[in-house]
Amino acid sequence: MLQSTASAIREDVASGRVSAVEVCRAFLDRTTAVNAALNAFNLVTSERALAQAAEIDRRRAAGQTLGVLAGVPVAIKDNLCVRGMTTTASSRILEHFVPPYDATVVARLAAADAVVIGKTNCDEFAMGSSNENSAFGPVRNPWAQDRTPGGSSGGSAAAVAARCAPLALGSDTGGSIRQPAGFCGVVGLKPTYGRVSRYGLLAFASSLDQIGPFTHTVRDAALALSAIAGADPSDATASREAVPDFAASLTGDIKGLRIGVPRAFVADGVDAGVRAAFDAAIGTLRGSGAQLVDIELPHARYAIPVYYLVATAEASSNLARYDGVRYGYRSARDKDQNLKQMYSRTRDEGFGAEVKRRIMLGTYVLSAGYYDAYYLKAQQVRTLVRQDYQQAFEKVDVIAMPTSPIPPFRLGERTGDPLQMYLADVFTVSANLAGLPAISVPCGFSEGHLPVGLQLTGRMFDEATLLRAADAYERETDWHAQAPAI
Ligand code: GLN
Repeated sequence: MLQSTASAIREDVASGRVSAVEVCRAFLDRTTAVNAALNAFNLVTSERALAQAAEIDRRRAAGQTLGVLAGVPVAIKDNLCVRGMTTTASSRILEHFVPPYDATVVARLAAADAVVIGKTNCDEFAMGSSNENSAFGPVRNPWAQDRTPGGSSGGSAAAVAARCAPLALGSDTGGSIRQPAGFCGVVGLKPTYGRVSRYGLLAFASSLDQIGPFTHTVRDAALALSAIAGADPSDATASREAVPDFAASLTGDIKGLRIGVPRAFVADGVDAGVRAAFDAAIGTLRGSGAQLVDIELPHARYAIPVYYLVATAEASSNLARYDGVRYGYRSARDKDQNLKQMYSRTRDEGFGAEVKRRIMLGTYVLSAGYYDAYYLKAQQVRTLVRQDYQQAFEKVDVIAMPTSPIPPFRLGERTGDPLQMYLADVFTVSANLAGLPAISVPCGFSEGHLPVGLQLTGRMFDEATLLRAADAYERETDWHAQAPAI
């Protein structure tokens, strides 16, 4: 059962072949068994999950129709609010924060009868690419426990890879769903900017953040996206664009589909094993009838500096609210402390080093005198990055790249050099800058049996074509069905 997809579990629960309680218990047992080694969860909510599963079984017995994710255990990244569950963003500053409301995505999963089993570890406030910035310790990669699962949604990716849940939610501001999905050998989808409501997501960079699923198959990702997407009165940035039944677009037919390959952009600095897996993957797509087209993304090489200016600027503003007054941690009272000292000591004690670095960078680039040179310039170059994609999508339907230029690296290997860490986001950040949907699917292994991800990027709101291409690839391979030996 642990190897089952979300779709299969839903079928089994809805038809009564298996009870939601049995499913829930199996995944909870698995979670308990492996989490001590992986540290993928900040919180496991067994009792609440089992009670919810029992309620689903009761409703089935009473003849009621069940939701599209009935009985499917899900793990939720710890920067998404779940009513009554501590929601920490893996930060000391929110260590004891219990939100009084559900994020819209969580409410929609509940309406689809999915069962939340816990909250997953991540980089603090989703800032990072290795999960090493968590206040609660790093997550370990289920394929090689001395290595990173990627970040920032490392816990969600590891949880799905290790079969603790067939479905998890993460957030992606510059690659935080796709990169850990690639590193852990699972599917990770970042929808179009605005496709999914961010109400109840602890904001990192509001012009870039999106929420999306981790799964074993593209079909499950399509199913989950249909369940969570769509307009939301609580989030003005959630688009009113109609939400199709994405699973229905998975025809397996990509004959004549034009897939763009930015050869010059992916030529440099890509690990040999990643390169070989990527070349084989685009060969497979060609074998399925797709047409490979060379494209240029001339400004893509500026995407890293642009991203790290825009994201830090927005983060410095979004994180101003954590000052010890309203949410979470407040530094111990001291009679000499005035209000300003209380703010500053709370933030000094509550935030980790990377979050502080980002707040300082962001404050700097927004400050009078530097705003035009950095922030404004970054916004202008962001437009050029977006235009590159618009031009490319005049001649192709989907764009293929590796998800990450490197395989999962060793824990501790890159923590001393933040710039090296940032540079490895080279293939993921531009989809966020341009607002485009992108998916990472397992496409093989590099040396040492470390997973490699193939990233496909689609047109705005055209997840249907993106998912069709990804599913067609998956049908020709069995990478997604392989499980780590933990
Ligand atoms: N690795 C990127 C960063 O550190 C992206 C993070 C994310 O997508 N949340 O900002």
